[in-house]
Amino acid sequence: MSNLKKHGSCLCGGVKFDVTLQEDEVHICHCELCQKWHGGVGFGLKCEGDWVVQGEENLTWFDSSEWAQRSFCQKCGTHLLFKTHDGSYHGVSAGALDNATDLKLGMHIFIDKKPDYFDFTGDAPRFTEKEFLQMVGASE
Ligand SMILES: [Zn+2]
Ligand SMILES: [Zn+2]
Repeated sequence: MSNLKKHGSCLCGGVKFDVTLQEDEVHICHCELCQKWHGGVGFGLKCEGDWVVQGEENLTWFDSSEWAQRSFCQKCGTHLLFKTHDGSYHGVSAGALDNATDLKLGMHIFIDKKPDYFDFTGDAPRFTEKEFLQMVGASE
């Protein structure tokens, strides 16, 4: 079994955290929010909600949409944890993990929002916004 307990931190070390991943698959999100937030794509992992944060005073939560919040270190700006308001989803930025071993690429989501100037190789499944929202039961 792969080790799903991970330690992470921001660039300046002002925020450190421990999370338990729900799975070892990294999802790549190409949505417009992630493009703005990450300056590119978002590499995220689903985790349990029992994360432990050190330096919570440096962690700022921001309502990025009407259904979710994203957090970042207010000193260095590193993007760290995100969650839905209803608590049904907790996520962590893959790049914030200090030991991102034993992980693999799971899928691409919002692939129809990807800009034309890059592409990924590999055969990980690719879902459009519509397909993804149908998959999670969130389509109107
Ligand atoms: Zn920081
Ligand atoms: Zn996204």
